[in-house]
Amino acid sequence: MTDNRNKKRLLPSEKRRRRRIVMLNRTLFGIVCLLLLAFITYTIHLVLGFIFPDKPAEYVISGNEVTTEASQADSANTAASGSNTNGTSLHQDTETDVFNDEPAAHASGEAMNNSNGTTAASTDDISLDYPYSLYHSKTICLDAGHGGSDTGAHDSKGSNESDQNLTMVLTLKEELEKYHFNVVLTRSTDEFVSLQERCSIANNASADLLISIHRNSFPQDSTICGVEAWVCSTKPAKDTAIAQKIINSLEKVYITGNRGVRYGARDIDDGEGEDYIINKASNMPSLLLEMGYMSNSEDNLLFDVYMKEYCQAIARGLADYCLNNK
Ligand SMILES: [Zn+2]
Repeated sequence: MTDNRNKKRLLPSEKRRRRRIVMLNRTLFGIVCLLLLAFITYTIHLVLGFIFPDKPAEYVISGNEVTTEASQADSANTAASGSNTNGTSLHQDTETDVFNDEPAAHASGEAMNNSNGTTAASTDDISLDYPYSLYHSKTICLDAGHGGSDTGAHDSKGSNESDQNLTMVLTLKEELEKYHFNVVLTRSTDEFVSLQERCSIANNASADLLISIHRNSFPQDSTICGVEAWVCSTKPAKDTAIAQKIINSLEKVYITGNRGVRYGARDIDDGEGEDYIINKASNMPSLLLEMGYMSNSEDNLLFDVYMKEYCQAIARGLADYCLNNK
């Protein structure tokens, strides 16, 4: 009875106290729930951010700038061709003159870095400018003039033309293959191969182009110098255009003189007519390229110093020719 009376007497205040406690508990519970919710949301955000990070592919290095994907299309060519440490673009407009700036660097296979030291592109990316699909079907037959017992011309130091021709052809092969050209050689060692046999090799390979590499000589006058190309006396337009392209390319590396595209043969003495056999007996566009005079010291010096650059320039010139004459 006493307990019941006490209960009844304390009930109003007790009720109020209990209500306050209940309200307080509910408020605290709400705050805890909100904090918990915020923590869970933050955790989910972190986890999702870890699983789906921002894609670096959305950004592309263009020259010295990092641009967003929106401008990627415009800068794709720049990114592909890279830039040197000075920020100068090495990419050339393939529709226009292509040897204005450091063509050797472009085709040398060296990585090109931007100012941040980040590799923007290497010339392994040559295929971005010069698509594989265009060139892998093009066969170029390279002929290293002379060979074996036929040593060709000589310089004052006793170097053989046949050796220099072979060295250049092997280097040119490497440079052409960077553009995915299919390259066939008439000889790859110091051996004698007849002129007819050289043409047969090109014809049997169904080559699209035959280039015979030589070095000139005119001991009677050692001041005569320069590069020239010989094509068939019928003056075929395509042969002439390719020969001109090659000489123009070489001129932009550096040669003592551009002796131009010539027709027929200088002093043919094999009784086969007015053309070099290389041009006469081949079924495809062809040219005989005279890479300066072995009887001229400056031509010899330039050949020694720039032979690789010459090959790079020829390769790029041919690649551009194909690109612009599909
Ligand atoms: Zn020769």
